[in-house]
Order: sequence, then C-alpha cells, then structure tokens
Amino acid sequence: MQRVKRRIACPTCGDDVTTPVPDEDVEPKPRPYRAAYGEYTTLECSNDHTVWVYFC
Ligand SMILES: [Zn+2]
Repeated sequence: MQRVKRRIACPTCGDDVTTPVPDEDVEPKPRPYRAAYGEYTTLECSNDHTVWVYFC
C-alpha cells in the first residue's frame, strides 16, 4: 500500500510543508492552532512554525 503525501502551505508564512494523508481523496486543511476536535497531525515548517493539519 502506497503512502500518500501532499504539499500544503504553512498558514503562518506560506512555506511548503509535506504532510502524509490517510487517503488520496482526503483534502488536508492546515491551521495555525489546535482545534477542539478532529483527526489531525502536527508538522513543522522550515521556519519552525507548528502546523496543525486536519483531514476532512
Ligand atoms: Zn511557517
């Protein structure tokens, strides 16, 4: 099974960040803060911003 990755933009600086996604039909939504609920993963962009990525 192939692992799917997407490129998204850091919501703070717009830098490209690569995120794994659970399914290729899922659209990752980057946020600069943590939401109260939802499936997410956290990443760091090259400028040390934390990016919370939610899958809808
Ligand atoms: Zn950034």
